[in-house]
Amino acid sequence: MSKSVLVINCGSSSIKFALLLEDQEFRIHGLAENLGTPEARIKGVTVGNEPVDIRIPNADHKEALEVGLSRLANYKPDAIGHRIVHGGTLTKAELITPEIIDRIREATPLAPLHNPAHLVGIEATQRLFPDLPQVAVFDTAFHQTMPAHAYRYALPKFLYTEHNVRRYGFHGTSHAYVSERGSELAGSYKEGGWLTAHLGNGSSTCAIWNGESVDTSMGLTPLEGVVMGTRSGDVDPSIHSFLAQNLGWDIYKIDKMLNSQSGLLGLSDLSNDMRTLIEASEQGNEDASLAIEVFCYRLAKSLAALSCGLPRLDGLFFTGGIGENSAYIREKTMSYLPHFGFNLSKERNDGLKRGTEGRIDSGKGPQIWVVPTDEEGRIAQETKQVAFHEFDAEPECLKKSEHGIALA
Ligand code: AMP
Repeated sequence: MSKSVLVINCGSSSIKFALLLEDQEFRIHGLAENLGTPEARIKGVTVGNEPVDIRIPNADHKEALEVGLSRLANYKPDAIGHRIVHGGTLTKAELITPEIIDRIREATPLAPLHNPAHLVGIEATQRLFPDLPQVAVFDTAFHQTMPAHAYRYALPKFLYTEHNVRRYGFHGTSHAYVSERGSELAGSYKEGGWLTAHLGNGSSTCAIWNGESVDTSMGLTPLEGVVMGTRSGDVDPSIHSFLAQNLGWDIYKIDKMLNSQSGLLGLSDLSNDMRTLIEASEQGNEDASLAIEVFCYRLAKSLAALSCGLPRLDGLFFTGGIGENSAYIREKTMSYLPHFGFNLSKERNDGLKRGTEGRIDSGKGPQIWVVPTDEEGRIAQETKQVAFHEFDAEPECLKKSEHGIALA
C-alpha cells in the first residue's frame, strides 16, 4: 500500500511544504515566508483553488508549521521527508535519529545558512508528529559517487583529511531525478553518459555515468560553478585578497557580494530573474544582454568540461525554471557547444510547450531533452523507500476531505 508523504524544505526565514498523497499526482503546497518578522505569512490555495493568505506576525518555524499543517484537516501524512542541503559524507537518505541529527549539525560549517534552519524544521515536525517516521534527504548524497580526482581540490592534503575540504556538489535530488527520468525517456534507463543542466535561481551541471554522478559544477559550497541568479559561480579565488587589500573589504562583505549581489543580478545591475533580463535585452538593455551571454557561455563551458568525466556522451537534459521554460537560453547555450555533434532542432526547441518534457535535437548526434524536475516527488519517493521499504508506489484512493483547506 502506498503512503502519503509531507515534504518539508526549511530555509532560514521560509518553509516550503508539500503533501504528496498516495499516487504522488495529487499535491498540496504551502509557503511560509518572512518568518521571525512582522510580515510573516503563509500563502496557499484551498482545495477549491481559492487563494489563502494567512498573516502570522513574528511567527517562528514551529508556529508557521503548526498553523500551516493544522489547515490540512483530514489530509494526514504517513511520513515526513526533509530536504537537507548538506549531508557531509552521508551517501543516501537516512531515517532521522539522534545520530543523524548530529551528522547534520556537524555539516553546519559547510552550509551555515541552510543546515541550522533544517534542524529547526526537524525539531518542529518531531514535536508536531512524534509518531511519524522522518527521513533526511540530502542534496549532496547523489554526488558521493564522484571519484577522488573529481572531488578533491588541489590544496594541501590536511585540509581534506582533517577539515573535510573537498567538493560535495548540490541539487542532487534534481540531477538524480532528471537523469533517471531522461534516460528512461531516451530508452536507456540509468545507462550511458549524460549531462544535466539544472538552471534556476541556483544553477548547476552534472555528469552522470550509468546512473551515478561522476562530476558536478558545485563544490564545497553551492557558490562554485556556473553563473546563477545572485551567485557569481567560478571566480579567481585571489579576488578575496584583491578586494581586502585594495578596497578594505572584510571576509563577510566579500562573501555576501559573491553570494547575494553577483551572478545575473551583478552583471546586469538590474535583476536576478531571467525573464526580466530577456525582456530588458529585447528592449536594448546592453547589460542585460551581456548577463545572458555570460550565463550561456559559462554554462556551455561547464558542460564541455564535465564531459571529461564520461566515457561516452549520449546526451544532455535541461531542467529548472530557466532550462524548462526558455527555448532562447537553450538555443544560445547550444550555440556555444559546436564540438560534440549536438544538433538542436530549432523547430522542436521553439515548439516545446512550457513545463513539458520532450526531445529537442534533430535526431543526429547526442540527444537533447527538456525534463521538468520533480525534487518534491523524488524526496517523497526516497522517504518512502527509507521509512517503509516501499519501492513501487501504487496508486490508491485519495484520502480527501471536503472541508479541509489545502495549501498550494
Ligand atoms: P527556479 O529557481 O527553478 O524556480 O527558476 C527560477 C528562474 O527561472 C528565474 O530566473 C525565472 O526568471 C526563470 N524562468 C521562469 N520562466 C521562464 C521563462 N519562460 N523564460 C526565461 N526564464 C524563466
